[in-house]
Amino acid sequence: MSASIHEPARNLPVSGSFDVVVVGGGMAGVAAAVAAARNSVSVCLLDKQSAVGGLATLGNVTIWLPICDGRGRQVIGGLGEELLKLSVADLKCNNMPARFVKIPTCWYAGGDPEERKNVRYRTDFNPSAYMYALEKLVVNSGVKLLYDTRFCTVRREAGRISHLIVENKSGRFALACSTVIDATGDADVCFLSGEKTESLDSNVLCGWFYTLRGGKLELHKHSNPYCPCGTQEGGTGPFFGGDDGDQVTDHILQTRELARVKLAGLRARYPDEDIQLLMPAVIACLRMTRRLAGEYTLGEKHMHQWFDDAIGLTGDWRKPGPVYAIPMRSLRGVANTNLLTAGRCISADTSVWDVTRAIPPCVVSGEAAGTAAALAVRNSDADMHALDIDILQQQLKNQGVLLDPALVRPV
Ligand SMILES: Cc1cc2nc3c(=O)[nH]c(=O)nc-3n(C[C@H](O)[C@H](O)[C@H](O)COP(=O)(O)OP(=O)(O)OC[C@H]3O[C@@H](n4cnc5c(N)ncnc54)[C@H](O)[C@@H]3O)c2cc1C
Repeated sequence: MSASIHEPARNLPVSGSFDVVVVGGGMAGVAAAVAAARNSVSVCLLDKQSAVGGLATLGNVTIWLPICDGRGRQVIGGLGEELLKLSVADLKCNNMPARFVKIPTCWYAGGDPEERKNVRYRTDFNPSAYMYALEKLVVNSGVKLLYDTRFCTVRREAGRISHLIVENKSGRFALACSTVIDATGDADVCFLSGEKTESLDSNVLCGWFYTLRGGKLELHKHSNPYCPCGTQEGGTGPFFGGDDGDQVTDHILQTRELARVKLAGLRARYPDEDIQLLMPAVIACLRMTRRLAGEYTLGEKHMHQWFDDAIGLTGDWRKPGPVYAIPMRSLRGVANTNLLTAGRCISADTSVWDVTRAIPPCVVSGEAAGTAAALAVRNSDADMHALDIDILQQQLKNQGVLLDPALVRPV
């Protein structure tokens, strides 16, 4: 067997042309696509799966982590708050059998500011209902949605991405694009378009699943302990990377085996009950895989630091107190003038990746990327580096994004 074969060059049909193409329809991609569409440009959102939400829906990651700082201050607004509200919009009551939990009452308008210091602004949602709600939002926003469509590679011209090459049931084709947002979670577009990236191989076995027991739906947050700093230190192996096909498959297979063991254990513990497996995660549950190593890399040392090019804020889901501003530079491609990242693959190092990968900051960077892409198309010839940051920040504020230096300072 020879080590390689030559793939002959061929002409591909260009099946569409868009102002903004968002690759990946997880929480970051949904936020990016909706934000761009609301800013009146043409948008295509593509995902290799057949649903939007990514890990949040297909991975059963059902905790909308806090959009406050844990000291009583809300630090995320805009789509971050809108999508949090949407996550539980169809819940009639709290504490349903599966522990779906609505927004704490103190966070409703006029809620008690003292109580907000002890109760964080978060929800526990139903992933199936959320998947449907997000999809409707995307479609109703006027976004062209392409499911079951895998991004394969790019065509570059003069320091920018001119086309994305994708494949689906129609075959292999190209999409012409003015701007691109890499919301793959794994920085696939960055990696294949000449950007510098960094990979981690510290992911542990993990895949949340539900069971039905005695008429009650129960979520099992099934995971080996991991090291929050993203290195293997302190974690419990085996460990996996997210940019290697064999490792991804091994991760899924071994996680499912672990779930079978867990299920057998439950059945042994409750022999008289009929315990059924329901809704296992159907996407690889990898936390930190590959990210952009961009022009500026956010780190823990930037806690409570304001950036002149801040595009949004986030608290720290792990503890009350810390607030981070996210700079536009940590979203921007270096090799490609028309490329932005959003979600868990923005340029943030291991000291803070565990914060920026959570759903709320993923939506913050998604909304910023979508808005920036739309403005760049209209104002700066699709060049993200030439985009006027004041115009972007003003537009984000108009959308309800919280961009106040006072919120970044410690209480
Ligand atoms: C086990 C686990 C538990 C977690 N717990 C929580 C929690 O409780 N609360 C919380 O807030 N966060 C939690 N997180 C983190 C959070 O869920 C994710 O980091 C976040 O949802 C990531 O969003 P994203 O849009 O950046 O990426 P993803 O959700 O990974 O979405 C990326 C999307 O891109 C698509 N895609 C990837 N490559 C391609 C390609 N080549 N072509 C086409 N499409 C592609 C994928 O199909 C996917 O839909 C958890 C994560 C894990 C793994």
